[in-house]
Amino acid sequence: MFSRVLVANRGEIAVRIIRALHELGVEAVAVYSTADRDALHVRLADQAICIGPPSATESYLRIPNVIAAAETTGCEAVHPGYGFLSENPAFVRACVESGLIFVGPPAEVIEKTGDKARAKAEMRAAGVPLVPGTEGVATLAEVRVAAVELGFPVLLKATAGGGGKGMRVVDRPEDLESAYGAASAEAEAAFGDGSMYLEKALVPARHVEIQVLCDGHGGVLTLGERECSIQRRHQKLIEESPSAALTSEARETMEASVERACRQLGYLNAGTFEFLLGPDGSPSFIEVNCRLQVEHPVTEMVTGIDIVREQLRIAAGERLSVTGRAPRAGHAIEIRINAEDPRRDFAPAPGLVSRFRPPLGPGVRVDTAVFEGASIPPFYDSMIAKVIVRDDTRDAAIARAIRSLEEFEIEGIPTTRDLAIDILRSREFRGGAYSTSYLAEMEGRLPSMVPA
Ligand code: ADP
Repeated sequence: MFSRVLVANRGEIAVRIIRALHELGVEAVAVYSTADRDALHVRLADQAICIGPPSATESYLRIPNVIAAAETTGCEAVHPGYGFLSENPAFVRACVESGLIFVGPPAEVIEKTGDKARAKAEMRAAGVPLVPGTEGVATLAEVRVAAVELGFPVLLKATAGGGGKGMRVVDRPEDLESAYGAASAEAEAAFGDGSMYLEKALVPARHVEIQVLCDGHGGVLTLGERECSIQRRHQKLIEESPSAALTSEARETMEASVERACRQLGYLNAGTFEFLLGPDGSPSFIEVNCRLQVEHPVTEMVTGIDIVREQLRIAAGERLSVTGRAPRAGHAIEIRINAEDPRRDFAPAPGLVSRFRPPLGPGVRVDTAVFEGASIPPFYDSMIAKVIVRDDTRDAAIARAIRSLEEFEIEGIPTTRDLAIDILRSREFRGGAYSTSYLAEMEGRLPSMVPA
C-alpha cells in the first residue's frame, strides 16, 4: 500500500477519500482553492496545498498545479474523486509522466469511453445492447435523416457530454435545427467540443447502472445495480439499490454484459456502466463513467464493500479478494441534498449554513463536508450532503430515509431536503414503478416544488 496519496478534489468526496486513506494507514494530502481555505477536507488531511484562486479552471482543474502539489509533498499516487480531472486523459498522462499512480483506469481506456459515441462502438463490439441512434458523430444533415428513421422523440447528445449538458430532446422535425445549434454551442462552451450524436429518446425510461471493480490481474467484480431514475434536468436526486425494475435474470444478464465489456476495454479500477430500461424493460447502454460516482455509497451499503478502499488497493497492485458477483443484502437509498431552490426551478442557492444537524441512528450514513457556520461557495457543485440509509426491505429503507431527513436540520439556505421527503412519501415512488419522467409528471403535486 502507498504511504502518501494526494486527493485532487474538494467537498464531500475529498473527505470520503481522506477517511479511506486514514483507515488504511496512508497519509492524505489535500489541495484547495482560496475559497476552500476553511474547508473540512483541508482540516482532515495531514497536509494541504493551496493550488489557486476560487475559479475551478484556475485551481482544481489546473493540471500543473495539482501535479506540483503531489510532487512537492512526496505523494506516490493521486485519487481524483469525481468531476474535475477524474476523467481527463491528459491529467492521467501527466501523473504517469511524473511517476505518480493515478487511482483509476489508464488514459487509453478513458479516451475510448469518454467520447460517448466511441464508447457505444466499443460496447457494440462487446455485444452490449445499445440505445438505437447514429453510429458516431453526426452532422445536422445526418441527424435529420436518422431522426426520421428512429422516429420522434429523439435526443441530441454531445459526444463529450456530462452533467446533462449538451443534451436536447426533440419532439418535431422542425425543431431539430435550432436544438442542434443550441446543444452543440452548449457543449462547445462546457467541454470545448461541440460534436453531437443522436439517439432515440426512450420514454418512459428507467436509469439503471452497474458498478464494477477490475484489478490488474484479470479479476472483475460486478457489484449489482443502482436505480437512478429520480432526476431533475437529467441529473440524479435519489438513488437506490436494488432496483424494483429488475428480475434476478435481467440483473445477471446486465452484470454479465458489463463483465464482458470490461474485458473488451481492458478496464481497470472502479467504473459504472449506465443503461436505460426502455418501456419494455429491456436494457440499452448509454455511457461509461470511468471513475468513482457520487452515488457509490448505495452499493457500499448493500454489498459491505468499501469501494474507495478497493480502488486504492487495486491502484497499489493488489488483487480483488472477491471476483464474479458481489454478495449483497438489504436495500439502500441515497438522497442528495443540494443547495438549490426547488420552488425556483432548482436555482443554485449558495450562502451561509447557519444550522446544520445531520441525522444519526441505526442504518444511517451522512457524507458531507458541510458544518454549522460553513459557507457554501458559489463556484462549485451545489450538492452539500448525501444521506444514505440501509434496511432489510425497501419499505423499511424508505421509512428510515424519511425519518432521517425529518431529523436533518439545515437552516440558512434553501435545499432539496423537503422535496426528497415529498418524493419518498409519494405513492408513485413507494410503488417502485417510477421513471426518469417522475418529477415532470409530479409537477404541482409535490408541495415543496410549487413556486412560492
Ligand atoms: P450525462 O453524462 O450528461 O449525465 P447521460 O448519458 O448519463 O448524460 O444521461 C443522463 C440522463 O439523461 C439519463 O439518466 C436519462 O434520464 C437521460 N437520457 C439519456 N439518454 C437518453 C435516451 N436515449 N432516452 C431518454 N432519456 C435519456
